[in-house]
Amino acid sequence: MFLTHRYLAIFCFLLIPFSVLAQTKNNSFRIVPLGVLGGIDESNLSAYMVASEGSNNYVCLDAGTLHYGIQKAIDNKVFSIPAEQVLRRYIKGYFISHAHLDHIAGLIINSPDDSTKNIYALASCIETIKTHYFTWESWANFANEGEAPAIKKYHYQTLTPDSLIAIQNTSMYVRAFPLSHSNLTSTAFLINNNDAYILYLGDTGADDIEKSHNLHNLWLAIAPLIKSKKLKAIMIETSFPDEQPDKTLFGHLTPHWLMTEMDDLAVLTGPDALKGFNVIITHLKPPQTSINKIKTQLAAENKLYLNLIFPQQGKEINL
Ligand SMILES: [Zn+2]
Ligand SMILES: [Zn+2]
Repeated sequence: MFLTHRYLAIFCFLLIPFSVLAQTKNNSFRIVPLGVLGGIDESNLSAYMVASEGSNNYVCLDAGTLHYGIQKAIDNKVFSIPAEQVLRRYIKGYFISHAHLDHIAGLIINSPDDSTKNIYALASCIETIKTHYFTWESWANFANEGEAPAIKKYHYQTLTPDSLIAIQNTSMYVRAFPLSHSNLTSTAFLINNNDAYILYLGDTGADDIEKSHNLHNLWLAIAPLIKSKKLKAIMIETSFPDEQPDKTLFGHLTPHWLMTEMDDLAVLTGPDALKGFNVIITHLKPPQTSINKIKTQLAAENKLYLNLIFPQQGKEINL
């Protein structure tokens, strides 16, 4: 009897760490939203830290708000080191989808306190940063190219669509896809760690409105990853409620246009593959009445039974 209990105790002891392991193993990525809105509130603009589960080697997808979001995450016990250290030590590189201020203001403002790292973006986006922001008239040139003298803290890494590159100081890889965003080219980043993927889209309009095939081409590329369950989530914008007229969308999506795009994706994956699939809704534009409308309309139009996730600033998401 004594022995049985003893073995049972040992067995339970062994079981605990295994069950903890199994739990973390199911998750592939940790996402820490630093800013989730699409405008107005400068303390809550698009920026998402993403790392593989169990790692603190993050990339930052867009960088509208950094410091305020990091502080919120610390208040929520996501990080246990000071905000300056999170910025310097945990963020290993920035991925900028396009150079609109709501996607890069945090990076510019925090640059004096930041550490050396890469800025990854398409050539057109790097060109704008180089000639409009990291200049000695608008700020200081903290990058490695552009106006002299270059402080060389940030190193521009030009991404070319479709090529797979390793993200320095992390175990992750990235592939970039162009998106149509009114007059600009925006970017989608497909991040992977081993066999797990996550797709982040910067601002984008629907193909029908933008007279483009960029989203359709992106869906073609990722459909196999959804069918094989390797893609853990799509992070995509919904900026305006359906009441916004098509002619004043300025390269953004509404619930109607997001679901139109998801229908296009569903043709490629089959609708069953999208049932319960994680779609993280980004870039909701204030005021709060619009945000509430967007959420209600998305729920009403969710005929595919997507798992819609509304990220909150400083609250970790594990996928
Ligand atoms: Zn934009
Ligand atoms: Zn934006």
